[in-house]
Amino acid sequence: MQNLPENFETYDEARQRGFLALKELKDKGQRVVGIFCSYVPTELIYAAGAVPVGLCAHSEEPIAAGESVLPRNLCPLIKASYGFALTEKCPYFYFSDFVIGETTCDGKKKMFELLNEIKETFVMYLPNGREPRQDAVKAWRNEIIRLKEKLEDFYSITISEEDIRKAIVLKNRERVAFQKFLELGKLVPPALTGYELGIKSDAAGFNFDIEKKIESFEQRTEEVMHHWENDCKGKTSKRPRIMITGCPNAGVRDKLLKTVEELGGDIVLIDTCGGIRTQMQKVAETGDVYTALAEKYLDITCSVMSPNEPRFEMMGQLIDEFKVDAVIEIILQACHTFNVESYNVKRYVTEKKGLPYISLESDYSQADKGQFVTRIQAFLEMLQ
Ligand code: SF4
Ligand code: SF4
Repeated sequence: MQNLPENFETYDEARQRGFLALKELKDKGQRVVGIFCSYVPTELIYAAGAVPVGLCAHSEEPIAAGESVLPRNLCPLIKASYGFALTEKCPYFYFSDFVIGETTCDGKKKMFELLNEIKETFVMYLPNGREPRQDAVKAWRNEIIRLKEKLEDFYSITISEEDIRKAIVLKNRERVAFQKFLELGKLVPPALTGYELGIKSDAAGFNFDIEKKIESFEQRTEEVMHHWENDCKGKTSKRPRIMITGCPNAGVRDKLLKTVEELGGDIVLIDTCGGIRTQMQKVAETGDVYTALAEKYLDITCSVMSPNEPRFEMMGQLIDEFKVDAVIEIILQACHTFNVESYNVKRYVTEKKGLPYISLESDYSQADKGQFVTRIQAFLEMLQ
């Protein structure tokens, strides 16, 4: 297994650093908009002179508070996010001028009704599917225009198409740098851990200067390539190359992902909405800006879309390009869309790609850690 870099920043450290940076920005009058989902076109937020902050919570701490209002049998990400808002313990929520929700899964969209009582929550109506294509694009384009108008009203500003196009170009540059970093996972043998891939991807959300974010991805990519050329190239490894797919996994990263690598697997690819799933496709830089944004965001392959055939096409391509040996799917407890879709994922991975597959369902607690160690160990032994 590869070592972490000397100056490695943990997720908690990055989050902490982000608080201070955001407070400083806020003191200078920075506009801040809270978001919960990768379907939100952040280009509009940048075009409004604001910065987006991710509010999806990955900590067990606020769950008890969340459960004082929400049902216990709900996704931990939703309960934790709401719990933070309710207890006013998340500075990112506190600093947000307003919040953008979206109609993705049922748990989240109903939670947004309650969240709106704590802080203004503007909900975008995401279509449930991508077909008929023309209708889906039209519906999502209308919602994107509605968000632009909301930002204009809220901040008493005018957002021009030129502002949006500039933001599209900037975000595309970020996507390219991010994707190149994630594609380090293609190296054989691997030159960095999946643990680092995951933390750097998730922690990027706490860097509010997009140019610095691009620089940070480019710098680490260069360092890792240098390390691979000098210390790894030409060597062989018997460790199986693992692809992680499924729900956002920051809340189970230590319990599940770290365990996989400690027990002998190399995580080379994390296919979640915070990772490669949302970076592969750029927004068209010419033509109508709203249609370009609608097209790109509608194509994100999250299980909330039905049917979700593009997810399998993308998985197949990634499995080949990253030379994946086996797939582990992470399901957060009570996430019905990923849980139901996991049946098709299993069929696709085992029957179409001929690879081993396992799904692990969990929440943010440590109660099931022992059980996971046993299951992951058995899975990795089977691969050898
Ligand atoms: S898993 Fe899907 S619904 Fe949840 S934040 Fe990611 S893209 Fe949005
Ligand atoms: S993990 Fe599943 S249930 Fe949880 S917020 Fe995302 S889509 Fe909804």
